[in-house]
Amino acid sequence: MLSPRVAGQAAQQRPGEFYTIATLGSHSALQILKGARDEGFRTLAIANDDTANLYRSFAFVDEVIQIPKYEDFPQIMRDLEQRKLIIVPHGSFVAYLSLDEHKKMRTPYFGNKAVLDWEASRELQRQWLQRAGLKLPRQFKTGAEIDRPVIVKFYGAQGGKGYLFLKDAHDFEEKAALLARRNYILQEYIIGVPLYIHYFYSPLTGKLEIMSMDRRYETNVDSIGRIPAVAQSVMDVSPSYVVVGNSPVSLRESMLAEAYRMGEEVVRVSREICPPKGLFGAFCLETIITPEAEFYLMEISARIVAGTNLFIDGSPYSYLNYDEPMSTGRRIAREIKNALLSNSLELVLDDSGLN
Ligand code: AMP
Ligand code: AMP
Repeated sequence: MLSPRVAGQAAQQRPGEFYTIATLGSHSALQILKGARDEGFRTLAIANDDTANLYRSFAFVDEVIQIPKYEDFPQIMRDLEQRKLIIVPHGSFVAYLSLDEHKKMRTPYFGNKAVLDWEASRELQRQWLQRAGLKLPRQFKTGAEIDRPVIVKFYGAQGGKGYLFLKDAHDFEEKAALLARRNYILQEYIIGVPLYIHYFYSPLTGKLEIMSMDRRYETNVDSIGRIPAVAQSVMDVSPSYVVVGNSPVSLRESMLAEAYRMGEEVVRVSREICPPKGLFGAFCLETIITPEAEFYLMEISARIVAGTNLFIDGSPYSYLNYDEPMSTGRRIAREIKNALLSNSLELVLDDSGLN
């Protein structure tokens, strides 16, 4: 395989002529590939039978490889390894590939795969965020311990699908049959405003940026408030948390410093748990903010999240750092380009791709 250092030297002037940026056609692929094209790279979408025509319809997509379904992606890995390309992962890589398949990819990969283990395990993720000094919702080991409303999160659930709201221990008993023989965690239900903060950490400059923020629109939890409480009580309606879209948010400026600090702490601890590189590139802290203006951490996503799709043309925050539209997808391509130009591509790629 190509040595990124050698390729970096060759590509010093016009990196895009030498490298293709590739990703799975889903989630935030349009943003990633548009950003790659804006930074001068060639672009490749790996699409399935349903999505190939869509990706072909965009002028900034140079090439589409069509596979029957995304789960077939490992079968084309060998071919991709022969090419000068860099994979930029997003949520669909996590959704459609196993952890093992993900790690076995030998193609140059933007990001640090060592972080995947810490992200995939709810226990390790909790340790990581706790070590960073962030506030986490309480967790209960058994139903009998529940002393406040909880959310039941099943393992492997995607995008909040199947989560349950339980108001107390009695509610838990009633749902026992539903919960039997399944793996889940019982987490304190935090009432507040959900805020997803999108960050970018540059291993080249050592600087953290807040790129943008969103809140999700989830069905039906975000529409229950439209039904009068009296009617709800006779309807026996329970909340569900299936994400259907995202809306932009700008944070009260006095809370911005805390949002930035949380990002810094998460990056700092990531270097201790996944040395030496830790977490770099795009990531997202999924928070709920209480009336006391405290951020509770629900989760961390260690890569670009789909909420950044709101900001393909840049966000109010990215505008403060750049005088041009800077999406998270474009910021990733810019980092790869800067790495090529400074002959330090290895700093932005997973180490397992570097041989
Ligand atoms: P997809 O390829 O759209 O099925 O999405 C892959 C993963 O990303 C799933 O876990 C989705 O729940 C998540 N996802 C997709 N779109 C969004 C979105 N707009 N906001 C938050 N999560 C999303
Ligand atoms: P997650 O899978 O952690 O991204 O959660 C999906 C959705 O479930 C979030 O967007 C929230 O609406 C909701 N949620 C998750 N954890 C909590 C919590 N501890 N308290 C209240 N709502 C939560």
